[in-house]
Amino acid sequence: MIRRILRVVAEKRRQHSRELRGALTWNGLLAILHRERIPVVRTPLVRSAALLSGGGVTVMLLNADVPGRRHLAFAAHELAHAWLHVHEGSEVCFHMDDVWPEGDAREDEAELLATWLLGSHAVRRAFVYAETATQLRLALDE
Ligand SMILES: [Zn+2]
Repeated sequence: MIRRILRVVAEKRRQHSRELRGALTWNGLLAILHRERIPVVRTPLVRSAALLSGGGVTVMLLNADVPGRRHLAFAAHELAHAWLHVHEGSEVCFHMDDVWPEGDAREDEAELLATWLLGSHAVRRAFVYAETATQLRLALDE
């Protein structure tokens, strides 16, 4: 799982070298979404955030009722779904819930990639040395 996430990271760092040099910022996120043609819409929602994709179009929705300082974290998670789980022609819909569905590996993957996106240099280094998700979580908890 970690290797796959790092492969995506390597590819995206080439594409978005400036924005992904350090921890992702809100402006960096907007630049990436613009380049990738993923509109982001802040609107009242039942859940915190969602990523919708179908017919070659992907849209990110963020709940306008959630405090703005949390939008970057939610957006990083949804961006991770876009990079890891949206494939050409696929139709998917990811909702962010307070409680995640047990056993959906995609939620863990998206959260790990979001951790990398938002992480400091030390956090990013932990990804490189971890062989498993469990090792990574232990390293990040230290
Ligand atoms: Zn998710």
